[in-house]
Amino acid sequence: MKNLLWLQTGACSGDTLSLLNADGPSLESLINGGAIELLWHPSLTAEPAGYLERLIRDIENGVRSLDIFCVEGSLITGPYGTGMFDSFRGRAKIDIARSLAEKAEVVVAVGTCSAFGGIPAAPPNPTDCTGLQFDRESPGGVFAADWRSRGGLPVVNLAGCPTHPLTITRTLAMIAGGMPLDLDHLHRPRAFFGTMVHQGCTRNEYHEYDVEDNQLGGRGCMYFNLGCQGPNTLANCNSELWNKRSSKTRAGVPCFGCTSPGFPRNGDLFKTEKIGTVPVTLPLGVSRAHFMAYKNLAKAAAPKRVKDREMEP
Ligand code: SF4
Repeated sequence: MKNLLWLQTGACSGDTLSLLNADGPSLESLINGGAIELLWHPSLTAEPAGYLERLIRDIENGVRSLDIFCVEGSLITGPYGTGMFDSFRGRAKIDIARSLAEKAEVVVAVGTCSAFGGIPAAPPNPTDCTGLQFDRESPGGVFAADWRSRGGLPVVNLAGCPTHPLTITRTLAMIAGGMPLDLDHLHRPRAFFGTMVHQGCTRNEYHEYDVEDNQLGGRGCMYFNLGCQGPNTLANCNSELWNKRSSKTRAGVPCFGCTSPGFPRNGDLFKTEKIGTVPVTLPLGVSRAHFMAYKNLAKAAAPKRVKDREMEP
């Protein structure tokens, strides 16, 4: 059994709601099954805040060990690097996070905010937010790029706004079970960030034939006009459906690329930036020349049933 302390920093609680939606496994089953001992969670622990203060002190003094340290929320370093815009009992949360992370076997950033800074760190970033080990795309946030936890891992980044429910509980189950975590260059577990949102999207045939919509609510692909980032975003949204039922693109909303360190991108999330008729950001790894040649052919070859949007996405 591994114990777990969950700290919220500059957060909206979206990742906590996501955690509570997980059902394969659920947090409850991890606890009841003896995999996880929950030391503290701000929304689930019934103890008063004085308990948390004592718990932090005991961990810092070595009276208690800490296995898994989860951080939800952007790390607020303002004003002037003090972190006092976000404090607990007179102490900056960034200092508490630094201190507990040094004691933990594994540190998990739950959500894009704690992984990369997220929405609070987007320009103009008035509270000087950053991620735990990345400052948006740049390595190094509260911790230097070469920092490692007691268990030898960098901060494990479960990116997402919010993180997919199953990504949270399955990662916790893997850590509790002593399974190795294979991380990508952004410290995200490849088991959950190894496919693109585009893969598994029900609008794929429309994408292949360049049959696109100009307005929300249609059946076509949303890449060319409506800002969809699916072909550039590594996440399991269309391979592990949310609530076993749906995803953004299945519900007719473009992927915003929320598992990427540059999220939210600067600009209209519902609009594709283009040079002429070609999107500025092409699908991952595709060259502009090949893309243009292929797309022109594909558009010409589109069958009538696809052009007429007869396919149910
Ligand atoms: S809507 Fe987005 S994810 Fe779906 S096929 Fe089009 S580009 Fe890919």
